[in-house]
Amino acid sequence: MAPGFPLAPGATIGILGGGQLGRMLALAAARLGFDVVILTPELDAPASRVARETLIAPFDDPDGLARLADLCDVITYEFENVPAAAVERLKALGAPVAPSGLALAVAQDRVAEKTFLNEAGVRTVAFAQVDSGEDALEAAAHIGVPSLMKTRREGYDGKGQKWVEHAADAADVFASLGSVPCILEAPAEFVRELSVIAARGQDGELAIYPLGENHHEGGILRRTVAPAPASPDLADQAERIAAQILTRLDYVGVIGIELFELADGRLLANEIAPRVHNTGHWTQDGCEVCQFEQHIRAVAGWPLGPTDARAHVEMLNLLGDEAEAWAKLAAEPETRLHLYGKREAKPGRKMGHINRLSGL
Ligand code: AMP
Repeated sequence: MAPGFPLAPGATIGILGGGQLGRMLALAAARLGFDVVILTPELDAPASRVARETLIAPFDDPDGLARLADLCDVITYEFENVPAAAVERLKALGAPVAPSGLALAVAQDRVAEKTFLNEAGVRTVAFAQVDSGEDALEAAAHIGVPSLMKTRREGYDGKGQKWVEHAADAADVFASLGSVPCILEAPAEFVRELSVIAARGQDGELAIYPLGENHHEGGILRRTVAPAPASPDLADQAERIAAQILTRLDYVGVIGIELFELADGRLLANEIAPRVHNTGHWTQDGCEVCQFEQHIRAVAGWPLGPTDARAHVEMLNLLGDEAEAWAKLAAEPETRLHLYGKREAKPGRKMGHINRLSGL
């Protein structure tokens, strides 16, 4: 355990990022007696309205980071595109940061991520690095078609990716993605998309939730069903993958790991998110200790909590104007409503979610 840990209630936790994940982390932290300070460039962010204080500054602003380091006993993040340099700066200022900058660096670059996963003994689709039109043609010849070209950095919700249908088009697809560094991936012939949410404590303790089964629409998560029906072998594979990743990263906190289930029952890892994850929202009402509390426990050096499911949950994201149905949803006895307090509903914007419960 690092000096000064476990943090006692009354300590201050810093969060880089002010979105809904930061908001739900701040609520969980408050319940355990911690104060929260948010650093975000956004005015009136969802997390700010439930935190003690917000520093409005770009993530790489030296004064903002110095002030955050000064105010906080530990600093975490709710968003994986925080510049790795910001984490380095906080560490140089003597502030403990969890999860580490290594997890962030790995998750920010799809080539580094898949290379890391394979080195950790976790299977992925075959892939090739693409930095030029020539690379794209070579990669398509090597990986085959159809294959999926993705930007290496800053892709989310299915943005920054296009299928290559004919090998001869690979250079054009690369150009249409802006000629930025890319990865070409073999297609995963999955029967289901699953995810595992897991945590590692400061002393190396692991806590792994049951699998969630995820359904996307237009690249955006629409629905998670959990615990997903899974054979003991599938559950074992997911636990092994989570343990390998967390241990190898010397990770502290909650991680989200997206998986593809193949027809032959094998799991491939698609991506890792070094933070609490939308596919783990079901744990808020389906488990004794949800992913948000679990993350706060881990970064504060506390013991981790139980991860068993106590209900079946269908989590549905409320996108755009769907959150306007709040009164109807609130009247459903089996539905738990979580709203993010965002002022403006744009199409596709995540405004809240519901967890619909049924008995185990
Ligand atoms: P990602 O941005 O990597 O999470 O990808 C977004 C979605 O695209 C995934 O949830 C899958 O539905 C699909 N996808 C991503 N990678 C592949 C792949 N290699 N093969 C088939 N589908 C994929």
